[in-house]
Amino acid sequence: MKTYRNPDEDGYYGEFGGAFVPEMLYPNVEELQHNYLEIIESEEFQEEYQDLLKNYVGRATPLYFAKNLSKKYNTQIYLKREDLNHTGAHKINNALGQALLAKKLGKQRIIAETGAGQHGVATATACALLGLECIIYMGEVDIARQAPNVGRMKMLGATVIPATSGSKTLKDAVNEALRDWINNATTTHYIIGSVVGPHPFPDLVARFQSVISEEIKWQLKEKSGRENPDVVIACVGGGSNAAGTFYHFVDEPSVKIIAAEAGGFGIHSGKSAATTFLGTLGVLHGSKSLVMQTADGQVIEPHSISAGLDYPGIGPFHANLSINKRAEFFSINDEEALKSAFELTQIEGIIPALESAHALAVLEKKSFGKDEVVVICLSGRGDKDMETYLSKL
Ligand SMILES: *Cc1c(COP(=O)(O)O)cnc(C)c1O
Repeated sequence: MKTYRNPDEDGYYGEFGGAFVPEMLYPNVEELQHNYLEIIESEEFQEEYQDLLKNYVGRATPLYFAKNLSKKYNTQIYLKREDLNHTGAHKINNALGQALLAKKLGKQRIIAETGAGQHGVATATACALLGLECIIYMGEVDIARQAPNVGRMKMLGATVIPATSGSKTLKDAVNEALRDWINNATTTHYIIGSVVGPHPFPDLVARFQSVISEEIKWQLKEKSGRENPDVVIACVGGGSNAAGTFYHFVDEPSVKIIAAEAGGFGIHSGKSAATTFLGTLGVLHGSKSLVMQTADGQVIEPHSISAGLDYPGIGPFHANLSINKRAEFFSINDEEALKSAFELTQIEGIIPALESAHALAVLEKKSFGKDEVVVICLSGRGDKDMETYLSKL
């Protein structure tokens, strides 16, 4: 049977994926490729991981029936509350899983990249808990605009190293982290923060985030008597919260899959991050996928009001859903996301992350049947975005 859920043994989702890394990284990447499934599926690993998810992260997160929102859009809307996780978003599911995996592989030193600082904070948190050395690469520009998260990482004991090349943002931080990994291959594990990077990272991260849809299934069954919703919606930066939300539904043809990308100022404005609309086949950060690039392969600077969606690529899992039309992609502009963030706050009393607001904004673009069950992933909380929100009041 054709599956959208996992890659083939070479790490391909259809034509996307694979592992395109410098030769010096082969041993590291191959070590992971050969061992990740056996380790993370082992009883010992699962016992420790599930215990932490429950007692440390605070899972299961609620599946909340949003009555007011449902009334407004005349359909049945449930919110999967990843914003209620420890550290405020879904990223901790993956950071903890990979930190545990690193320990099992005998690595004591962790590196990670971060854009807005959310993945950096989640990684620094996991490292503090598990007693691992933590180095976070972050663009110099991002360090300046995300001061509270930089402070959190430092307080958690991480070393934050500025990436000073290129545009001094996320993609430059990824390049620095990859360089570090090459130089410290035997001691170090690189915790990639989304379903991107060379195989097996997209699959590894998707599996750690798949707890989101695993919970949706039993929670929806409890609440409505059925496991499968009619529609699932999530925002896509690299694609990890979306992969987790879609994971147990992509091979269920009755479930509609909807992804929301950051349109920025508009798809054709030159300031956008809508990769499935603007991207072409290319290799970025170790895997073949859709990439926003010029005809001669220079990466185009993305733009989004939300730092977490401001990425010029998309994971191979999602590129494959897009090209096969298994998922419907919407491009949501900055202003549309802002409007939805204020709406949710005012009618449900929940301040969402700007990223998550892109998923909510799909409700303005597409209507659903009165009895249809629509599950939206609320990937994170809005505390980090208060400055942006307050500037719009
Ligand atoms: C990082 C982040 C995202 C985007 O990352 P994905 O890998 O696409 O999930 C979305 N929402 C929040 C709250 C984030 O912190």
